[in-house]
Amino acid sequence: MKFAFLVHPLTDDTRELVGLNKTGRFTETWGKDLFNFLESLHVGVQGVAEFNRNLPTDQPWVVDYLPHIGSLKGFQAEGRIYEIPMLPHEILLDSSRALGMMEAAVDDATAWGAKVMGLGSMTGIVGGRGTHLADYSPISVTTGNCLTVFAALQGLEHACRETGVDLSNETVSVVGVPGSIATAAAKILKPKCKSILLVGRSNSARSRKIAAEVDAEFTCDVQDALARSRVVFTATSSGDCIDQKWLSPATIVVDVAVPTDVIGSKSERDDVLILTGGLSRIPEGNRIDSSYFFFQRGMIPSCLGETIVLALEERCESYSLGQDLSPEKILKIGELASENGFNFTKLCSFGAAIDESVITNFRKTFRPASHFFVDPPLSKTGSHSENGNGSVSQVLSNGSGGAASRNGNGHAKGELLQNNNGQSAAHANGKRPQETNSGNRLIDRLAVRARALFRRHMNSVVANLGESVVKNFVRGEGCHVWDDQGNRYLDFVAGFGSLNLGHNHPAVHRALETVMRENAPGFVQAAINPLAATLAEKLVTLAPPELDTVFYTNSGTESVEAALKTARLAGERSGFLYCRKSYHGKSLGSLSVTGNRNYQRPFEPLVPGCEEVDFGDVDSLRRLIRTRKFAAFIVEPIQAEGGMIVPPAGYFEKVQELCRETETLLIVDEVQTGIGRTGSMFASEFYGIRPDILTVAKSLGGGMVPIGAMLIKSELWKKAYGTLETFALHTSTFGGGSLACSAGMASLEAIQNEKLLDNALEMGQRLKAGLAELCDQVPILKEVRGEGLLLGLELNPINESIVSHWKDIDESMLSTVLGSKLDDVLRNISSMYVMNSLMNHHRIYTQTARSNPLVLRIQPPLTVNEEQVDYFLKSVREASSEVSYTTELVDGLFARTGVGDSSELETPKPAHS
Ligand code: PLP
Repeated sequence: MKFAFLVHPLTDDTRELVGLNKTGRFTETWGKDLFNFLESLHVGVQGVAEFNRNLPTDQPWVVDYLPHIGSLKGFQAEGRIYEIPMLPHEILLDSSRALGMMEAAVDDATAWGAKVMGLGSMTGIVGGRGTHLADYSPISVTTGNCLTVFAALQGLEHACRETGVDLSNETVSVVGVPGSIATAAAKILKPKCKSILLVGRSNSARSRKIAAEVDAEFTCDVQDALARSRVVFTATSSGDCIDQKWLSPATIVVDVAVPTDVIGSKSERDDVLILTGGLSRIPEGNRIDSSYFFFQRGMIPSCLGETIVLALEERCESYSLGQDLSPEKILKIGELASENGFNFTKLCSFGAAIDESVITNFRKTFRPASHFFVDPPLSKTGSHSENGNGSVSQVLSNGSGGAASRNGNGHAKGELLQNNNGQSAAHANGKRPQETNSGNRLIDRLAVRARALFRRHMNSVVANLGESVVKNFVRGEGCHVWDDQGNRYLDFVAGFGSLNLGHNHPAVHRALETVMRENAPGFVQAAINPLAATLAEKLVTLAPPELDTVFYTNSGTESVEAALKTARLAGERSGFLYCRKSYHGKSLGSLSVTGNRNYQRPFEPLVPGCEEVDFGDVDSLRRLIRTRKFAAFIVEPIQAEGGMIVPPAGYFEKVQELCRETETLLIVDEVQTGIGRTGSMFASEFYGIRPDILTVAKSLGGGMVPIGAMLIKSELWKKAYGTLETFALHTSTFGGGSLACSAGMASLEAIQNEKLLDNALEMGQRLKAGLAELCDQVPILKEVRGEGLLLGLELNPINESIVSHWKDIDESMLSTVLGSKLDDVLRNISSMYVMNSLMNHHRIYTQTARSNPLVLRIQPPLTVNEEQVDYFLKSVREASSEVSYTTELVDGLFARTGVGDSSELETPKPAHS
């Protein structure tokens, strides 16, 4: 449906010319003295007279055309923007001339075929806020004020959530009463906040009536009101009435006025939040480039938003008219806008999107209290509602909050299938958000803001990879995890080996509950913790021969650090020999023996005396190790991070011999291969290795608590630490804590009791055989490697010609995001594609090996069953066939002359079709 929208010129020049800022008289007089106020306006108008605007003087004209606006519901609209050549003050002072031009614009729009006319800024104020024009007009008219109120309140509530301000504790100043927007906002805000302070220009009968209706105090003293409140909603028709200096620290101002009520063109304070209220974000996928409007990242004024929504919905009715805006209509238009994909949670200040640091600074000033672990009451603000998302609808529906909204996007109705980005949250599996997560779970509530917080305070690079790549996981059980949208995924990453028992194994739960029930000591130093001692016995019993002493750590890299330091003392040499493509952790010592230059280079100089040798290359090892300068050779049984590289047959026998011959200690890093991953409790057992030192971590904590350990022969431990002077040379405050050790015991027991080693072997075999078969059938698949459930599937890189063609067009905008990494990423796109398809189409969570992204890591929990393995195989077949099919097709295209004529091409068939 066609729409028209009416505006008037509003430039910075206008603001300067009318002189309101310069004289300061307006701000001094506003709300206090009508006479002085009018005089300052008059000064402004005199300035305007000298302004050569070069505009048509007596008729409206079309300044812009918006040909194509689509919505989430699939509706379409097109529109014209009309401008009348009068500045805001001219419109106010000569409203009959303005109305004449507005009527002319309606006539033209009607002739063009528009069915609804929206009134922007001042054109929505004169003529009884649209009522005059509605009487005249054959087509519907709206000021758009209902959506403006809705958007501004949604923005305010979103800002409160982000800053931790609880409206129910706040006195809110609503400036601009008896204006229609301020009045409607005051009525809606009233039940949500502690109290309301109404601020208006004069103590009129109408203002007093409104004050009585909302049971609020009324004042004309704006400065005094600001001093008494830290939340301000301001919507005057004249602007420039709030001096930033008057704001108390930690104040949120939502400024709906055009020109702005807050004086200035940008925020001059980092301890307050000045927000442009009433903006709407247009539905995703629309590329509205208007020569007239500056669509700040898709933001438009909501008066235009409402006009568009009415056109999209083909509602030929005059909507927001007159002084009284009905709360029901406000809710309804907000609901329709949300359904069509409009969003109100982007925070802007003086029209420009705010930097995340603004919120951070505000919170540093405000320091909000939090009550995450207290059962959330159904608060008046709704800020503790099920999703932490208060909404206008709650107030409108029952006036006292309630779980009206579940999706956390600031939309009016819980049933709207929208997520935080205004996209559809209807899923491939047809499930609705939260379907699997019943009840009022803490983590679901925290998940609502988690992505924004992750981006703001943790890792913006990862967050910016997008929602299809980076999920927000809220629940895990066995081999499955669930995201915040209720989608269930088969977890084939399993915490990079830290979830051998799967998520939330009941035996680990029970162990932790027991220890907590018994009030076991948390952390005790230079003292005996029975849980730690018992776990030490258990570990030693299961470990390779001669390892009989345990030192506890909290992570893999700490276990490696302990091993390296101890080897220096016990081995009485300083150097370390390690393998290319190895991974031993990222603390400085571990990094120094990690064979990946990309990780090492930025942190040089590293620990001296560390040298590299190829994994599996016995000759080089022999040559180097015979120099006898190395305290230890550190090696993984299978190089997992390096791309699931298995050792050649007989390698470890030779390694063992050479270490013994040269009195070099052998450190076997079983952080990833240990605790049953390869089908033996330790891979050393499988390869017949007898390490001097063994490191372990990851799944020792049963997937719930971090714990690691270094296992060492007692004679070596004694050499290093066996005296009163040396026993405390290497320690860890948290090492051997009660919860960690009880999880460790439960983990080892469950692996034995549930025969998970047998299952790992059986399922590993099934997976490996299935994948090997696929490698024979699907060209993009190269080979499968590994043991037990530590497997890697290597893919072939895509053809160079495709890489360079992609770079040429790059409609994906990847080059902007990836910069110099683009080539690498494109080369590895085959595995990325499969990973993405598994994640988003088949709902299987996988990752690639960091050192070789063409290798898909396959390491599900050891509890994985046949059905899950078969589903995985079927899904990999489909996903990889798609890549093979696409690359063959594109390759074929490039092979031809006259690229683009694909009609004669023989189209390869996907293998699964
Ligand atoms: N050693 C090996 C073999 C690993 O695979 C890893 C981690 O993946 C580490 C050490 C480092 O463990 P963490 O990340 O717990 O420090």
